[in-house]
Amino acid sequence: MYHTVSLRTAPRTSVRLITRQQTWHRRAVEAYRQSAQDEIAALPVDLIARIAALTGQTLAAGSVYVDRVARVATATLDGTVFRLRRGELVLLRACPECGQGHYESPPIETLADLGYTLSTWQPQCPNCAPEDPINWLEREDI
Ligand SMILES: [Zn+2]
Repeated sequence: MYHTVSLRTAPRTSVRLITRQQTWHRRAVEAYRQSAQDEIAALPVDLIARIAALTGQTLAAGSVYVDRVARVATATLDGTVFRLRRGELVLLRACPECGQGHYESPPIETLADLGYTLSTWQPQCPNCAPEDPINWLEREDI
C-alpha cells in the first residue's frame, strides 16, 4: 500500500521540483544577463566620466573601446591608455625594456593616484628586469 503511493507520487514530486529549479535557474541567468548588459552599457560612460574628473578632458563616446566578453572599457588620452575593469580605473602600459608585455597599474581613484602611476609606477616583465632584486636580497656577502 505504502509502496504504491510512493511510486505514484514520486514522479509528480520530481517533476514539480525540476520545474521549480528551472524557474530559479532561469531567473538567475536572466538577472545575470541583464546586469551584464547594464554593466556593458555603463562602461564607456563611466570611463569617460572618471577620466574627465581626473584630467578635465572629456573623450568622445566613440573613442572608447569596449570588450563585451571581458567587460572592459579602454580609451587613450594623449598617449596614456586608461582602462575600466570591474569598477576599477587603471592605466595600461608596456614594459619599457621589451615593449611586449602590457601591464595594468594599481587602481586609480584620486589625482594623486594618477600622478603616482604616471611618474613612479613602472611595469616590467620578470625576465626583462636589468637586476633581479630578489637575488640581490639573497646575496650572502651583504
Ligand atoms: Zn618586457
